[in-house]
Amino acid sequence: MSIYLDYNATTPLRDEVKKEMLDIMGPPLNASSVHSFGRQAKTHLENARTSISNFVNANSDQIIFTSGGTEANSMIMQIFKRPLISSIEHDAVIASSKNPNFIDVDSNGLVKIDDLEVKIKKFNPDIISVMWANNETGVIQPIKDIVKIAKKYKVYVHCDAVQALGKIDINFKASGLNSLAISSHKIGGPVGVGALIVDDPYNLNPIILGGGQERGHRSGTENLIGIVGFGSAARKIFLDNTEINNIMSLQKKFEKLIKSKLPNIKIFGENVPRLPNTTCVYMPHMNADAQVIAMDLEGFSVSAGSACSSGKVKSSHVLEAMGAKWASNKSIRISSGWQNTKNDLEKLAQFYVELYKRTESKEKEIINA
Ligand code: PLP
Repeated sequence: MSIYLDYNATTPLRDEVKKEMLDIMGPPLNASSVHSFGRQAKTHLENARTSISNFVNANSDQIIFTSGGTEANSMIMQIFKRPLISSIEHDAVIASSKNPNFIDVDSNGLVKIDDLEVKIKKFNPDIISVMWANNETGVIQPIKDIVKIAKKYKVYVHCDAVQALGKIDINFKASGLNSLAISSHKIGGPVGVGALIVDDPYNLNPIILGGGQERGHRSGTENLIGIVGFGSAARKIFLDNTEINNIMSLQKKFEKLIKSKLPNIKIFGENVPRLPNTTCVYMPHMNADAQVIAMDLEGFSVSAGSACSSGKVKSSHVLEAMGAKWASNKSIRISSGWQNTKNDLEKLAQFYVELYKRTESKEKEIINA
């Protein structure tokens, strides 16, 4: 069995989540029905909503369940006409923004606050969207500073917190954000569920119309089993946040190990705040897709940060925006999680170094031939 180190792509379903989902599977559960089955479904739905609102410190009526992070981002971005977004946003934000203008990032992948202000004055945006943490590099944005500037110019601020959730503290009320997108399958819940959290849900323009579920903001019979799983995963992390410290120490150890053998190794965002589980690392003599295959053959599941839905590796727009075009198709992402052990990361470090040295000496042979 391969060692899974691609938690930023998706996570294993937690045992306790699976149990809670199985416990309610079977009976007819439509939360809109008036009879006792329906009322039971409604109770499960609202309990999950409460778990998520506690987890991110929002009011429960500010939470709108969606089919995932993509829909949550699209729901907001499609409303606005003059979006200003960071140049490292996830495709879910980029593709649903109408003619966006972009905020530059520096070589560490941090949004340039001065550029944000310049672009606000230049483009007069009606929304600013900056992700909390980047999916490829893990770099964490200075959300407080971004919100402060946005408020100064009275611009709506949205944040894609899909990768940040469960890995660092997310406090919606304290953040000052107007809206936030989150997703279940990045925290040990099932795929196909997420939420949009909005400070003023009555100011929304729903994109899915029909039966008026989610107080009219998102129609369609709720994916109750998925939502219960999402709530369960949120409750687990809210009540016990110790696992992330363990993940952080393993990931740090991994970086230390590879750096001790490869002192010139390039880890993106190494010296700025970064998600505790994410390492985006450059190997000069091998393309990212070949690295991913080599890792897979050796029993490690990692990814090229820039893999798209077809599974094809495309050049990373995130690394390009950071001024590292040279690394944009030669870097892979290692993202660990709660099922990983010290042994997993030590073994990976050993193989990574071996592969790096092997490709380096091959390159030398070719040059000398
Ligand atoms: N935003 C970010 C930063 C992500 O990493 C992802 C998924 O990888 C998404 C949005 C999309 O979330 P979902 O898969 O729930 O649609």
